[in-house]
Order: sequence, then structure tokens, then C-alpha cells
Amino acid sequence: MIEIPVDLGERSYPIVIGEDATRLIPERLAAFSGRPIALVADRKVHKLHGARVERALKSTGRVTRILVPPGERYKTRATVDRLQDELLRAGFGRDGVVVALGGGVVGDMAGYAAATYMRGIDWIGLPTTLLSMVDSSIGGKVGVNHPKAKNLIGAFHQPRAVIIDVAHLETLPERELRSGAYEILKCGIIGDPPLFDLLRAAPPELIGWDRAAMVKAVAGACRIKADVVRRDEKEGGLRRVLNLGHTLGHALESATGYRRFTHGEAVGWGMVGAAWLAQRKALLGSDVYETMVGAVDRLGPRPKVSDLSVDKILAALRHDKKAKQGRVPFVLPTRVGEVVVRPDVDPPEIRLALKAMAQRER
Ligand code: NAD
Ligand code: MG
Repeated sequence: MIEIPVDLGERSYPIVIGEDATRLIPERLAAFSGRPIALVADRKVHKLHGARVERALKSTGRVTRILVPPGERYKTRATVDRLQDELLRAGFGRDGVVVALGGGVVGDMAGYAAATYMRGIDWIGLPTTLLSMVDSSIGGKVGVNHPKAKNLIGAFHQPRAVIIDVAHLETLPERELRSGAYEILKCGIIGDPPLFDLLRAAPPELIGWDRAAMVKAVAGACRIKADVVRRDEKEGGLRRVLNLGHTLGHALESATGYRRFTHGEAVGWGMVGAAWLAQRKALLGSDVYETMVGAVDRLGPRPKVSDLSVDKILAALRHDKKAKQGRVPFVLPTRVGEVVVRPDVDPPEIRLALKAMAQRER
């Protein structure tokens, strides 16, 4: 078992990671004992892991189960309305605790429902996808989509604890697993060379990766995210280093209507592009460039980019929330473990980066 503190003064909380961390729930949530619990899960995850989690939670307090349909398209205000109606119907007051069991969709949505119910009640994250373990469950960004934009409606509302049971990953489809691994690799490049090496040493496409290494990798990524969040809770500036690979990644997702790539795959391509841009700007040596993109490629084949309209991708970049005067700042790696933010990446360079990315297709 590994515990990582997220140090935020009175909003501090622990992240507990283990191979069988569900077993630790009664002990780790003892401080919430006697308080009513709303277990929010999507139906798919509940079927797989709900019974065990509910048994563990029952030693803490009365559990009300609230299930939602799985999928990003249900990450809406309408689902939050339903969640909050159920909380009210079950008589939840300010002492109620929302427990989110599931991927990033459930975490974001249940966290947001908790943030706005009675001006904010406590919530606890039990993430079940690799992506949610290393990314969305930490940092307190919660919210839902608006038909016009992803995550447009939201709040900052830190959880009171995050408990990560790596055993949940055994039922996760392989593509979802690899998708989360790109975010772990990103954390290695941002600030943790041993974490980068751990991923490089993993079997190609992570097939047959052992659980102990998985726990270590999840913990490494959580440490990086927790550290960035501690220093910049509300995204004043530093937190944007976490966007490595995301500028191009988001543009690829948006240019393909969010259908072709998983988020992690798009970030994988984005990291290849960022490394290429860094090399072009002489921020990164060509040997380190090869090492970096080699590590990205080891995580598996990604859907192709060569047939996409470059103009569409450039248009998507111009619409990036972070764009200023049509230019988006790029996070570029300078070595394994360090990145810089550069405002001076021009469309012609991006065109070349996309060409270089297309050449790495397989
Ligand atoms: P998800 O929650 O949709 O889960 C993916 C699929 O896997 C779902 O169908 C789910 O039912 C299923 N699933 C979950 N756990 C499983 C398990 N253990 N075994 C088998 N199937 C399982 O997607 P996600 O990738 O976890 O999260 C994506 C969401 O996270 C997006 O909405 C994104 O905006 C959000 N996000 C938020 C933050 C943040 O800081 N709040 C950061 C990154 C991403
Ligand atoms: Mg991401």
C-alpha cells in the first residue's frame, strides 16, 4: 500500500494506492463512520465491482446506491439533476458523503453533484480506469459537458480521499488501459525520469504487465499530479505543464469528432508532436527525441493521423481555450523530466510537426 498526501491546507487529502485497496476502505474511511453514504457508479462498473465495494462501505455507514448509464454522453447537467434529486429523496443532508465509483465520467459528475448539493458536501473518489486513477480523480476539477463544449460547467471541489484499487484494472479493456498509460508516460516526461524508465521497461503495449509495477507507475503519476496541484490548485499557471501532448491531442480529438482516438492515444500523438517541435527549436537533442517518441510508440499502435485535414487541425488549435491572438502556448520537453511552456509555435511549424507525426504511423 502506498499513500500520497495531497497537501492543500485544510483541503488536504490522501491518495491510497494498493493491489487490493478495497479491503482498506473500512479502516481508511473510519473518520466518516456513521455518516450516510451515496455510492454513485455507472451500471457497467457497478456490475463488475459494486458488490465488493458496497460490502466494504457498509462498515462505515448506511449506503444508498445511485446508478447512472455509462458513457461520456451522459456526463450532463440532466444526469446531475437526477443525482441530486435522488440525494434529496433519500434525505441526504450536509453530513452526507458521495462516493464515486468509476472512471473519469462518474468522478467528474458525482464530484460536481457533491460540489453543488447544499453548497457542497464531501466526496470520495474510487477511480476504476487507469486514466481516472492517475488524472481525473486528483486535483478537484469536477464538472459536466455542455452541448457546446466539454467540461464547460464545473467547479473546483477537492475530494476528501481517493482510494485506488489497482485490481479494478483487471476488467478494463486493453485499449482503455493503454490510454491511461500515455498520461503516466506524460508525467514521467514532465518530472520523473525513473517513472519514464519504468514505462520503457514495461512489456510492449503493456501486455502482461505485472501488478506491482502497475502500482508503482500509478503512484509515480499521482505524485507528479499531486505536486503540481499542491503548487497551483486553481490553474494559475504552473498546472498547465500537465498539458504536455494535450494541445495537439485536443485538436486531433476535436477534428475527428471525438470518435477516432481515445484521449490517451490523442495525447500520445500530441507528445510525439511536442517532442518534434522541441527538437526543431533546438530545445531537445535528437537522441532524447528518439528515446521519447520510442517510449510513446511502445505503448501501442494509435489510429492514424495522415489522412486528417491539416487545416481542420489548425482551426481546432485556434479555438483552443488557451489560445491568445490565434496562438496556443505549447508545453515542450527539454529533457526527460523537464518541460517549458513556449508561446512561439507557428502554424507552419505545426504543419511540419503533423507531417513528422504521419511518418511515424505504423
Ligand atoms: P469513463 O469514465 O467513461 O470510463 C470508460 C469506460 O470504461 C466506461 O464505459 C466505463 O463504464 C468503463 N469502466 C470503468 N472502469 C472499468 C473497469 N474497471 N472495468 C471495466 N470497465 C470499466 O472514461 P475515463 O477515461 O475514465 O474518463 C474520461 C473522463 O474523464 C472525461 O469525461 C474527461 O473529461 C474526464 N477527465 C477529467 C479530469 C479532471 O481533472 N477532472 C482529467 C482528465 C479527464
Ligand atoms: Mg488528459
